Amino acid sequence: MTELAEAPTARRDETITRIPHWIDGARVDGTSGRSGPVYNPARGVQSGAVDLASVEEIDAAVQSAKRALPGWRSTSLAKRADLFFAIREIFHAHREDLAKILTAEHGKVLSDAMGEVARGLEVIEYACGIPTLVKGEFTEQASTGVDVYSIRQPVGVVAGITPFNFPAMVPMWMWAPAIACGNCFILKPSEKDPSASLLTAELLKEAGLPDGVFNVVHGDKVAVDAILEHPEIGAVSFVGSTPIARYIYETGTKHGKRVQALGGAKNHMIVLPDADVEMAADAAVSAGYGSAGERCMAVSVLVAVGDVADTLVDAIRERLPNVKVGDGMEPGSEMGPLVTREHRDKVASYIESGAGQGAKVVADGRDTAPDGDGFFLGVSLLDDVTPEMDAYKDEIFGPVLSVVRAKTYDEAVSLVNDNPYGNGVALFTRDGGAARQFQFDVNAGMVGINVPIPVPVAYYSFGGWKASLFGDSHAYGPESIHFYTRGKVVTSRWPDPATSKIDLGFPQTR
Ligand code: NAD
Repeated sequence: MTELAEAPTARRDETITRIPHWIDGARVDGTSGRSGPVYNPARGVQSGAVDLASVEEIDAAVQSAKRALPGWRSTSLAKRADLFFAIREIFHAHREDLAKILTAEHGKVLSDAMGEVARGLEVIEYACGIPTLVKGEFTEQASTGVDVYSIRQPVGVVAGITPFNFPAMVPMWMWAPAIACGNCFILKPSEKDPSASLLTAELLKEAGLPDGVFNVVHGDKVAVDAILEHPEIGAVSFVGSTPIARYIYETGTKHGKRVQALGGAKNHMIVLPDADVEMAADAAVSAGYGSAGERCMAVSVLVAVGDVADTLVDAIRERLPNVKVGDGMEPGSEMGPLVTREHRDKVASYIESGAGQGAKVVADGRDTAPDGDGFFLGVSLLDDVTPEMDAYKDEIFGPVLSVVRAKTYDEAVSLVNDNPYGNGVALFTRDGGAARQFQFDVNAGMVGINVPIPVPVAYYSFGGWKASLFGDSHAYGPESIHFYTRGKVVTSRWPDPATSKIDLGFPQTR
């Protein structure tokens, strides 16, 4: 039995833990001589040093995956499904260990980290159905004596590059369907919170996944470029910020790879005058400040339509003092710190710039952050924000909620449609007709009707429009099965030898 990683909660922060790669079914210390700091954001201290891979180390992972591929892709679908049931059980049993690692390195509160693992588990559960998911089609007697059928086969060696904000779930979006489809997978997790990927590797081994089918290489741009340029990697999935997503898509496709690159977001929540204001205020606080706003589906702009604005802003203002900001390991904490000191300072700068550019600061999180060295910022609310302000234009990715006041429904929808991003959007209303019109009108990939964070369930797919996604395929669900497999169509004839003859004419279908 593999010895599982000790959750970093047990670590003493004075001891800096080395975080190695995982290649060929074992921990492998990096040899590049380069490493990156990993912090405990709640305490503001360095807790780990992650090895940063060289080009040669990426190649070692690719060779391991390549060696494992023939055995894995020929493993029957029944056996793969069996293994995924075992994977589901072991991840479920260790969900709290995984969540504690997330809280220790990312900072999100433990209940939120448990939620992240639970949503990732749904994708593993979806992958348990792999035999039905890769079913092809069959046409008998397409031509006389000729049958035609389609099959889907794995791409081969594929890679995933993931962001800091969901260190367990976003990798699950990728490795679960990729491996279930018969591919071998290389994960390059965020170097800011890399330990969850090592526990993932250990749990997969424990469940019985053969060595080499799942590898982890930590790293920065050197590792990412080595993945994008490696001739033996067939497909790359990416989730992260828009400038890097664009770069990944352009560079990966230039090197002949299939690429899906999910980018950043600026998610609007529109509240119509007929909405239930108390419910809308609860939703805005939950979706704006949950995970300290470090969710790609966080609500960052609240669009108050018509005369609802004053009551809505008041209702939110009343709720803010009750949001408990603190160490994510402390029971009762509802919002943890930001991931790094630099990011916290950048987020805080939008309160300053918002005020300077004419917004009204209703709540200033700089005044309400807990004392200490942790990377904390309290909840912040800006009112009277306009589209020209930096707080509106940039993806802040922190606990700063902006209120934009719009006169009409059309003005509100235009705001969303003119925005360069198109990830999630929500409408709060009691009017079914308005809601139906909204889903027709709005240019975004995921729409919530009285649902502030409309992350699709695992048997649909996740993805935005415009600058929130480069490539054609959304993540997980049916689109992931398509992304991680290639189609093949077989035209077959089993002729009766008695009717065989030479015919040099072009094959006819009738
Ligand atoms: P990021 O783009 O900085 O990093 C993502 C990955 O790219 C990491 O693995 C990182 O090591 C790598 N990377 C960073 N800079 C690079 C460079 N110059 N060249 C090559 N690789 C590089 O993103 P982040 O800060 O880790 O995550 C937050 C961002 O991710 C936000 O913009 C958020 O909206 C987005 N996100 C999007 C989704 C989605 O589904 N659309 C989901 C989660 C997060």
